[in-house]
Amino acid sequence: MLLLARYVLPVNAPHIEDGAVLVRDREIVEVGARADLLRAYPDEKVIDYGLAALMPGFIDLHTHLEYAVFRGVVDDLPYTRWKMEVQRREALLGDQDWVDSAALGAVEAIRSGITTVADITSSGTSVAAVQSAGLRGVLYRELSTMDTSAIDSVLSSALSDMASWEKQADPSRITIGISPHGPYTCHPWLFKALADAVGTADTHVALHLAGSRDEYDFVKYGSSPLGQDFRTQSGWADEVWMPTGVSPVRYVYQWGVLDLPNVMGVHCVHVDPDDIDVLKACDVAVAYCPRCNAKLGMGIAPIGDFQTHELRFGLGTDSPASTSTIDFFEEMRVGLLIQRGIRGERGFYSAKTFVRLATIEGARALKLDHLIGSLEPGKRADIIAVDLSQSYQTPTQDPYGALVHTCHQEDVLMTMVDGRILFDRGTFHTVDPEPMRARVEEMRLKVRG
Ligand SMILES: [Zn+2]
Repeated sequence: MLLLARYVLPVNAPHIEDGAVLVRDREIVEVGARADLLRAYPDEKVIDYGLAALMPGFIDLHTHLEYAVFRGVVDDLPYTRWKMEVQRREALLGDQDWVDSAALGAVEAIRSGITTVADITSSGTSVAAVQSAGLRGVLYRELSTMDTSAIDSVLSSALSDMASWEKQADPSRITIGISPHGPYTCHPWLFKALADAVGTADTHVALHLAGSRDEYDFVKYGSSPLGQDFRTQSGWADEVWMPTGVSPVRYVYQWGVLDLPNVMGVHCVHVDPDDIDVLKACDVAVAYCPRCNAKLGMGIAPIGDFQTHELRFGLGTDSPASTSTIDFFEEMRVGLLIQRGIRGERGFYSAKTFVRLATIEGARALKLDHLIGSLEPGKRADIIAVDLSQSYQTPTQDPYGALVHTCHQEDVLMTMVDGRILFDRGTFHTVDPEPMRARVEEMRLKVRG
């Protein structure tokens, strides 16, 4: 199959005007000039996307697909109150609701040009959703408890879920990992037990880390609404918690989790240069989630310092419960604008940098850059086509600028994972979003409470 477009963005090489990408089976075979590839492969089936960009699919480093139906339910609260409100409403959904909500999340990912999700799931429903939608994913089994008597059972049930999910999942697209939720929901002994259980295995580990100021205050000083109201709501009011006197990063580091071989910290907003030294020394990757961090009043991650320390980091949307949409163009745009706004003319980020964060840098964060993240012969054919022909995009001088400054998820023309087209000009090939509409309405009534 020969894909054509006005612009081809391999991402790790200069863009090609009037370019083409040859895909066979699940792989990218050749990337080059349209005329050359048409001449070399005259019998190949051709799909021409016209005034569009062909580029690697987006790699969403942080999402919770199963929360798709929570979109707009808790829109205007700061982090801790938002978290408590979402937690309170989780009990309103039944098992089938979580299945359908995750399926909705997968549809939205495809529509937004996301080809890989690093998804944290408690229910496990995103495994079936990602599998049947045809997406690629690293799916982390979430666990948490502050109850010391529950640590063994919480950990063993997580490990057993991971083993059974691995059996369900296509290993060429899906990897199962583990996610201790974060410093304010995991007892330090849980961190320690998890670190011992993972040991030297290359298991993908993700945790929410240094996200909100309340989390920082809770860990360091022992006092914040997360230490009182949230713990009471979670049934952990009787569990002793002493101030640790250190930042969330250094606190988690003490319990061995950051030393594991393949760790990603989500958010990392409240980190100082010493914390970033720790992250670098442990080779911890970071998911930068600018819209979630701004919308919930968490702050702004210091990505300039991440770059100076050469951390591996990319972009994450977080769940629709926090960000409302998983529009990756919005994520790039808001992430770029926030950083330009606070950094001024020094450390001025280009649109191209953010396209890289959305693709190849995300792949590096997941240690999957040998397979995905750029258009290169031998890599998996995870490719999207993005329309650049609309009135608000014309004229297009620089495809990177057009993608970051003008595009929305509706501009995605085609989403391909592993050489298989999942969505093409309005038609979904692996999922049927129509029956979901009625279910979504039912579920929204439930979660409104
Ligand atoms: Zn999250």
